[in-house]
Amino acid sequence: AKSSGRDGYKIYQQIRPVKSVNKLTIIEEMRNGIETGEFILDYQPQYDLASGRIVGAEALVRWQHPQLGRLMPGEFIALAEESGLIVPLGRWVLREACRQNRAWQDAGRNPITISVNVSARQFRDAALISDVCAALEDTGMAAEFLELELTESLLVQNREQAVELMDAFRRIGIKLAIDDFGTGYSSLAALKNFPLTRLKIDRSFVRDLHVDESDRSIARAIISLGRELGLNVVAEGVETPEQQAFLASCRCDTVQGYQFGYPMDADTFGELPGMSRKP
Ligand code: C2E
Ligand code: CA
Ligand code: CA
Ligand code: CA
Repeated sequence: AKSSGRDGYKIYQQIRPVKSVNKLTIIEEMRNGIETGEFILDYQPQYDLASGRIVGAEALVRWQHPQLGRLMPGEFIALAEESGLIVPLGRWVLREACRQNRAWQDAGRNPITISVNVSARQFRDAALISDVCAALEDTGMAAEFLELELTESLLVQNREQAVELMDAFRRIGIKLAIDDFGTGYSSLAALKNFPLTRLKIDRSFVRDLHVDESDRSIARAIISLGRELGLNVVAEGVETPEQQAFLASCRCDTVQGYQFGYPMDADTFGELPGMSRKP
């Protein structure tokens, strides 16, 4: 699975040199692919560090392209944003993630929170909240099991409107996480102003925890800040037992990364040992 994300750039190699014609082709194919069901979601488990229980899954979109094969988000999300197709694609992602989480619950699986990435363009879309409500209603998934992952840059672009929208999501019971926390320019202001439930420590701070003293300080500070503010803190990109041990020593709440599980298809995820309810 590690290598599938690394053969990454074939789509760019094809579109970049030949400029806009092929880019338009890809956009057209994407529009079509959204309608015909070429997109799929993988799920990566999130574990409670103290108990070892699975508490959540991040939904990650992939494009099963009929000619190019499986494309990773790094190869098409930017183009989806640029073209506006992220709005219908994101709508599909939300609905599919809710449907799948409800299906796991109906199958008697351990109830978990499903986290969905929301891009800036989607967040600015006036229909987002009604799309989310419709997805919950139609799938019968309870709002408390849905989390939206937002980025700092998205939030600072239009602060007041963002706060309003986030308040509305919180009133419904939806959880709100800041993704890639620490990489933006207004992390502390964001904590003060936005009605968040969770911080996701960016992978760049986790990667070198074993060698970099300042990364250790930053991670430790984010974790204690989250604790002071009553927020759940999740570390992403945890790849080694050393990173895990350090995060445990700081009492980080939740972990996600190759050390615990790669993104995987829904059936595989549903069969994870941690997904069967304890008697
Ligand atoms: P992200 O939200 O930061 O998601 C985490 C990325 O890190 C995922 O890459 C995941 O596979 C990868 N990852 C997880 N654990 C590890 C680890 O231990 N080590 C390393 N090196 N990487 C790890 P992926 O699936 O390629 O997604 C890349 C980005 O694409 C995501 O970054 C997110 O920004 C975006 N994305 C994915 N799905 C969606 C979606 O449905 N909607 C939107 N708007 N963006 C999405
Ligand atoms: Ca994310
Ligand atoms: Ca992230
Ligand atoms: Ca990221």
